[in-house]
Amino acid sequence: VPSSSSSSEADGLLSAPAAGDGEVSIRIQGGPGDPDTASATAAGASPQDSIEVGSGGATGNGAGDRPYQRYDVHHVARWIEQILPFSLLLLVVFIRQHLQGFFVTIWIAAVMFKSNDILKKQTALKGERKIAMLVGITIIFMVHVFGVYWWYRNDYLLRPLFMVPPKDIPPFWHAIFIIMVNDTMVRQAAMTVKCMLLMYYKNSRGRNYRRQGQMLTLVEYLLLLYRALLPTPVWYRFFLNKEYGSLFSSLTTGLYLTFKLTSVVEKVQSFLSAVKALSRKDVHYGSYATAEQAVAAGDMCAICQEKMHVPVLLRCKHIFCEDCVSEWFERERTCPLCRALVKPADIRSFGDGSTSLFFQLF
Ligand SMILES: [Zn+2]
Ligand SMILES: [Zn+2]
Repeated sequence: VPSSSSSSEADGLLSAPAAGDGEVSIRIQGGPGDPDTASATAAGASPQDSIEVGSGGATGNGAGDRPYQRYDVHHVARWIEQILPFSLLLLVVFIRQHLQGFFVTIWIAAVMFKSNDILKKQTALKGERKIAMLVGITIIFMVHVFGVYWWYRNDYLLRPLFMVPPKDIPPFWHAIFIIMVNDTMVRQAAMTVKCMLLMYYKNSRGRNYRRQGQMLTLVEYLLLLYRALLPTPVWYRFFLNKEYGSLFSSLTTGLYLTFKLTSVVEKVQSFLSAVKALSRKDVHYGSYATAEQAVAAGDMCAICQEKMHVPVLLRCKHIFCEDCVSEWFERERTCPLCRALVKPADIRSFGDGSTSLFFQLF
């Protein structure tokens, strides 16, 4: 008796979604091709009934699909479960075979991530920066870069760095390794340049901090452009592999270079807008306020809570010190008081001293 009751319950469950399926099929049947459509929808009740009956047949199909799909997913899960231990084993062997390369890659990436944090902290310190500290950081970064290249002096890392393709066709994982190391070390080297900029702008105020931010952004965009070019010689040599026939290799190489060109053009455009931002002297999110305007606004800056220093009038008519508001606009595009959109959409600023952490593999 309990089994029959459960089966009737199951029937009830199955028939519920069946009604929904039936309704969908009504709309499909009553398409524009059917001459009786208008009258049928007007009449309403009687065709509705006949379809309700017809939906019983559709129920079987609709309900049958769902357990079948679940069965499929279950099988896929089982399959993954079976190959997982073997994949992990292969991964361990792969790491063992490339032990040094593996650890060096992790090490230099970790150093680069940490250096990025240090540099951002130093940039945020502004006037509090210590020259000795910055000199120390610069020397450590440089020693690290030269150390890595000295260690790999026989490994053809330097040729792609100067846009010369490697002598031999690199195996896939070696190509990835060359690109990863060069991409990381170039960023580490650029961080020393940024460190020097921080030293140069250490004791400046206001407008010069904005200049410092623009210079940091410019260096970063130049770096992004160079990094976009950096993998090209390696992949060029990799794709130009005559083993698979010259037609195939020229086709793949040509396609690679075409893809590359579009992304490089994009990087050149951002670099040019960073240069343009550098030459723009006026405050492009407002104008300098007159003394009367500043007094009328209470002559107190809402950001620093002090007397206005070089007041700037935003488009929303709010007034702030230039130093304060330009620092604010490093992160935001809206007015600090009324949240009106004030700053035009610009290229992304790297004025906080940060470096893009994404790897440029292709
Ligand atoms: Zn202020
Ligand atoms: Zn405002």
